[in-house]
Amino acid sequence: MKAIICQKPGIFEEIEQQDPTPSKGETIVRIKKIGICGTDYHAFKGQQPFFSYPRILGHELAAEVVQSNEGFVSGQAVAPIPYLNCGKCKTCLSGKTNCCQNIKTMGVHVDGGMREFTSIPSSNLVSAEGLTDEQIATVECLAIGAHAIRRSQISEGQWAAVVGTGPIGIGTLHFARISGAKTIAIDINEERLMHCKEVLGVDHCINALDNPIDALKDLTNGNLPDVVFEASGAPVAMENSFNYVGHGGKLVLVSIVKGRISFEDPLFHSREMTVMSSRNATRDDFNNVMNALRERKIDIEHFVTHRCQFDELTSTFEKWSKTDSKVIKGIVSF
Ligand SMILES: [Zn+2]
Ligand SMILES: [Zn+2]
Repeated sequence: MKAIICQKPGIFEEIEQQDPTPSKGETIVRIKKIGICGTDYHAFKGQQPFFSYPRILGHELAAEVVQSNEGFVSGQAVAPIPYLNCGKCKTCLSGKTNCCQNIKTMGVHVDGGMREFTSIPSSNLVSAEGLTDEQIATVECLAIGAHAIRRSQISEGQWAAVVGTGPIGIGTLHFARISGAKTIAIDINEERLMHCKEVLGVDHCINALDNPIDALKDLTNGNLPDVVFEASGAPVAMENSFNYVGHGGKLVLVSIVKGRISFEDPLFHSREMTVMSSRNATRDDFNNVMNALRERKIDIEHFVTHRCQFDELTSTFEKWSKTDSKVIKGIVSF
């Protein structure tokens, strides 16, 4: 079968691999579509934490069952959960499979889905009945936002500000809206803010270069937002986000950067702020996203902006990775 491997930063190579053979507890799936995201671009550029080369990338997958002994039928559409958790550690046993102590994420710690077939633990497959392959390929990405919102326990009528309006920020804004929160998008890119306002129906947009704290106070009666979600992946923006959180509020760091971020302790303390990270997603988040897509609470028509065939990927990938590419979500098809 064909596969595309990232040999080292900046180098993709198309290779021939042996087809996977079924082993106990695993299902062989055919990859139908692959969503490309920041993790893949960062890995390609050598900027991704927890990463080693060579590696087959691809963790946002739409697949079809080829062979399974575990209740799946051949031809069935599935969304693979790419976070391979051990199922045995204290964290897994407490239900937090998304941050298992021995986690291996496909396309990051182990080979992912940029290939025709792969073998995956059957327990990591979720039936994706009623969704198109393109919708299925967006589930993992949207689930990151769904998990962040669930983790924040934001409630109806509260103010949610999302910093960074790339695919992860957009997913977070969708689930903030679905939870009944009032939504604010913060970014430095006017075009993206316009997209949030006109296409996503976000309540308010703020340019981070334009006195964001004053703008947030104006909107929230001087109180600042109840929960701030940081999804920019930029250290400066992450540090600035501490200033946006209201007294007694929460900051959820959804994005991750290599290195340290710091904050003013008096500010953090005086507001009795809760700072939390949000990592990956769980099966519940996957089901939550798929239901939102089925019920058309989320429309991916404007989310998927670019498409290519598997054979074109090596020549297309670098173009998509450029900051001025206007790609929100690129999807690769077999
Ligand atoms: Zn991703
Ligand atoms: Zn575990």
